[in-house]
Amino acid sequence: MECLFCKMIEREIEPDVVFEDEHVLAFNDINPQAPTHVLIIPKKHISTLNDIGSDDLTLVGRLQHTAAQLAKKFGFAEDGYRIVMNCNDHGGQSVYHIHMHLMGGRRFSWPAG
Ligand code: AMP
Ligand code: ZN
Repeated sequence: MECLFCKMIEREIEPDVVFEDEHVLAFNDINPQAPTHVLIIPKKHISTLNDIGSDDLTLVGRLQHTAAQLAKKFGFAEDGYRIVMNCNDHGGQSVYHIHMHLMGGRRFSWPAG
């Protein structure tokens, strides 16, 4: 299996887990861009946002729901936070297994560069 995040799901590589259930895994980003920077991934391998099918809509909702639950757990839900999903080259995607970045603990600017 070539996918880094599938290897984490299988524990061939050990992620720094913050949440896991049947459908979703969340772990700390190795190169954090905020005081809290968590990646939330589906256990199903989907390469990019373009590959999300109509059968995956509940799963994508789970990513967002997990982000909100973790924001509450980390204590920055009320202050606010940012979630980001990058797609393909221009979007800055570097790992081709969809993932939601959850970043909190500081203020973010908008529009982003
Ligand atoms: P993206 O650029 O949107 O594809 O995001 C990929 C993210 O994966 C980046 O923020 C990386 O810092 C992160 N990353 C890469 N390798 C690892 C790893 N071994 N453990 C945790 N996060 C990683
Ligand atoms: Zn994968």
